[in-house]
Amino acid sequence: MLKGKTAVVTGSTSGIGLAIADALAAAGADIMLNGLGDEADNADAIDQIKAHGTKTLFSPANMINPDEIVELIEFAERDLGSVDILVNNAGIQHVAPIEAFPAEKWNAIMAINLSSAFHTVRAAFPGMKKRGFGRIINTASAHSLVASPYKAAYVTAKHGLVGLTKVVALEGAEHGVTCNAISPGYVWTPLVEGQLADTAKTRGITEDEVKNTVMLANQPTKQFVKVEEIGGMAVFLCSDAAANVTGANMTIDGGWTAQ
Ligand code: NAD
Repeated sequence: MLKGKTAVVTGSTSGIGLAIADALAAAGADIMLNGLGDEADNADAIDQIKAHGTKTLFSPANMINPDEIVELIEFAERDLGSVDILVNNAGIQHVAPIEAFPAEKWNAIMAINLSSAFHTVRAAFPGMKKRGFGRIINTASAHSLVASPYKAAYVTAKHGLVGLTKVVALEGAEHGVTCNAISPGYVWTPLVEGQLADTAKTRGITEDEVKNTVMLANQPTKQFVKVEEIGGMAVFLCSDAAANVTGANMTIDGGWTAQ
């Protein structure tokens, strides 16, 4: 279905980004992987995507740095030939009460979870408009719609990312370029696993209690979302059937934000 299309997926060496890259490659797209560390550090993820037989490249561009983001898009346009699909997925988290929230963590979350999407879109948009085709997907979160305590930067960045999604949707509307957000609830990935200890400490409860009474308490299905389900949503948003889906915030959160 996506044969002949090219995709840049930021933060795709782990978790949700890797699953999205995997689903796009399975559908036939050539892939630019991205994540922290070098090729050797990310050999397993690179091999997983290469196994689909489509062209697979890797860039270690750090999404905190606008110059490296521009270089990532230039690299993809040069070595894959275009950027038809852009998935802004890289993201980090920090959990702390607002009065103790480190300013440098706020700045890093704003840069990686929000500003990086502005910089990638800004660089990739001219090529998409010229070709009359583009699919931009921003990995937001249920936290783009509702808040939780102790996540000031993350909730702010994800709400902002949905605002950017809508603006880009309007600017791309007459050029065959769609832009949508995918907003997962809790997905079992290294990012969520990494929050267990901090959340347990901040709330004074055990890690099992964090899973059951904090994370899944919000999710009526009482299940973590699976990364493959998010990959499936991304492939749909890249398909012809989704040509008129734009500016949407697609929740995939087990009913969390329906409450
Ligand atoms: P993860 O920690 O498993 O993966 C994060 C990826 O981003 C990795 O590939 C990592 O190398 C990369 N990354 C981190 N900082 C980077 C930087 N500065 N530059 C380039 N790459 C960087 O995380 P995940 O759970 O798969 O989360 C991916 C996205 O999904 C994030 O935007 C996150 O906010 C969002 N999300 C996750 C959940 C969840 O429950 N896991 C829920 C909603 C939204």
